[in-house]
Amino acid sequence: MAFSVANVRQDFPIFERTIRDGKKLVYLDSGATSQKPLSVIEAESNFYKFHNAAVHRGAHQLAEEATDAYEGARLKVAKFLGADEEQIVFTKGATESLNLIAYAMGNAEPGTRFALTSKDKIVVTEMEHHANLIPWQQLAARTGAQLSWFEVTPDGRLDLSNINAVITENTKVVALTHQSNVLGTIIPLKAIVARAHAVGAVVVLDACQSAPHMPIDVKELGVDFLVFSGHKALGSTGVGVLWSSELDDLPPFLYGGSMIETVTMTAATWAPAPRKFEAGVPNMAQAVGLGAAIDYLTAHGMSNVHDHEMALTKYLIEKLLQVPDLKIVGPTDLDSRGGTVSFTVGEIHPHDLGQYVDSQGVAVRTGHHCAWPLTRKLGVPATTRASIYLYNDESDCDALFDAILGAQKYFA
Ligand code: PLP
Repeated sequence: MAFSVANVRQDFPIFERTIRDGKKLVYLDSGATSQKPLSVIEAESNFYKFHNAAVHRGAHQLAEEATDAYEGARLKVAKFLGADEEQIVFTKGATESLNLIAYAMGNAEPGTRFALTSKDKIVVTEMEHHANLIPWQQLAARTGAQLSWFEVTPDGRLDLSNINAVITENTKVVALTHQSNVLGTIIPLKAIVARAHAVGAVVVLDACQSAPHMPIDVKELGVDFLVFSGHKALGSTGVGVLWSSELDDLPPFLYGGSMIETVTMTAATWAPAPRKFEAGVPNMAQAVGLGAAIDYLTAHGMSNVHDHEMALTKYLIEKLLQVPDLKIVGPTDLDSRGGTVSFTVGEIHPHDLGQYVDSQGVAVRTGHHCAWPLTRKLGVPATTRASIYLYNDESDCDALFDAILGAQKYFA
């Protein structure tokens, strides 16, 4: 299918509405959450209308249909990532996926593969979202393991100059974002994976900001765990993905129904992965919605989505750099970056700027973007962030540009 933004926009009901007294909705906050095509909204609603039943349990037709729909979504996610079905766990979101990994490691029997002690090291980066920092801080606190990190350079890249000193023989886990949700930076993953594996560490990749925007193949990436959230990838809220080739060795995190093999009054054994990580009735309709989102993205082609976003990122950066006093926080070239662009504008506080551009119909995000250590390191209290997706076009970037110029006059 030839990629056309005009056609894409027609699939998203939300773009039919106007905001702030009849203005066109300019949505540049997809890094926070994406809008949803009608096919996703209908897939979720049709699940409730026609097939609703608890998956994996009932001996009736609805339960069978619900299970087929839920497992069908798992297969779609697996194909999307170049993975096997049994390597996909549905969670509530990326935050839960990351907590699951960290808690499960904390539950590992001493001496087993994923058990950590005070002799071990967990490595993160300064550009992590809190969701991929705090679970590791907590795991370090519970096990006595040492937390260390890669620093960020002033131009928003990961500093790998001391890679062998950061990832040492004692490192057990390297957890890092694929693409920064603040800077747009894509990290040099190959070198990190090579070093991590050379010392026997596993690599946990937070693909929240990459999987929705570019083709992903877990085998090519070479990581051991990968997570992302459905709602940032055109899918429903309340569903996330955890992929791993290491699930068999990882103990469960949540205990309860559906994740067991046998249970007595005093003990239980676990079902094979992925079931052992999906205790309780899961977010079924949401998983089905994510399946529909993946169908939508796949029909357009992830390479087309990525190409479109890169062309638009170039346009957005060039446009923003024409604004007097505007400073981009993060890479200003297109090399290893995605369509998330953070910036400051002179002395205007990002919150004031965000409010003003909103009054013009432009939705951006302001603040520290759940990456407080990063904004602190870069010496900015907060930034304004524009993040694009397949439904944005040049007119959205123009609207942001005009709104910023308007803010400069307003706050002068
Ligand atoms: N990691 C990154 C890089 C993110 O951008 C986000 C959300 O903004 C998360 C993790 C957490 O995702 P969620 O809130 O969907 O669990």
